[in-house]
Amino acid sequence: PLSGKTAVITGSTSGIGLGVAKELAKAGANVVLNSFTNSEEDHALAKEISDVTGVEARYIQADMSDGAACRALIEQAGVCDILVNNAGIQHVAPIDEFPVDKWNAIIAINMNSAFHTTAAALPMMRKAGWGRVVNIASAHGLTASPYKAAYVAAKHGIVGMTKVVALETARDPITANAICPGYVLTPLVEAQIPDTMEKYGMGRDEVIEKVMLERQPSKEFATVEQLGGTAVFLCSDAATQITGTTLSVDGGWTAL
Ligand code: NAD
Repeated sequence: PLSGKTAVITGSTSGIGLGVAKELAKAGANVVLNSFTNSEEDHALAKEISDVTGVEARYIQADMSDGAACRALIEQAGVCDILVNNAGIQHVAPIDEFPVDKWNAIIAINMNSAFHTTAAALPMMRKAGWGRVVNIASAHGLTASPYKAAYVAAKHGIVGMTKVVALETARDPITANAICPGYVLTPLVEAQIPDTMEKYGMGRDEVIEKVMLERQPSKEFATVEQLGGTAVFLCSDAATQITGTTLSVDGGWTAL
């Protein structure tokens, strides 16, 4: 159903971004993978997607903490029918001890990058007469947790930005929505486990069960394939009138 469309997925060499890229490719979209590195493995990931699905897949290096690089990514892609703003990092610390460089990096990568890529992509979508902006926000775009000031601020910010983009494109054949995942066991979440173990004085299994999945009533992690399937749905004809909203994939977290 998405053949002939091109999707640019920021931060897509790992976790949710890679899962979304694979599902969009399976649905027929050409994909542009991105991260800030430029390794053989990065390019190999694109080749693998192309080999498996037959779509055109490319890797473009661009650091999403740099606004000019965000815009250059879209320009270099040349076409962007589907923009998935996914790049994101996390840092866990009490606000009065929160390192300023971490705050700035999280706001830049998790929120500002979407401003720059969206600004660059919307003219292309308008020209093409079709477009989808899919922002990977978080349950933390709708609720908060202690020690995640920068992340929660950035994710609430991107949810707000999504609504504005939807209003500004309401009369265009373009939609903008945010997917709000609960916990997904990706490298980003793995990396939080040691810090959280220390903060709460708990072991690994206890952190997973009592801290992470404590808020997730299903008691199961969401998967990257499920997130990819949600993105494909938002790109489908059925979702044409879905714009400016959030879609939670969180096992009931935000129903609590
Ligand atoms: P991940 O660490 O597995 O992947 C992050 C990707 O972003 C990687 O490909 C990494 O290389 C890339 N990246 C990091 N910094 C970058 C930069 N400066 N420029 C370009 N690319 C960069 O993380 P993930 O868990 O897959 O998270 C992806 C998104 O989903 C993030 O926005 C995250 O906040 C969000 N999210 C994740 C979860 C979860 O439980 N994993 C839950 C809710 C939301």
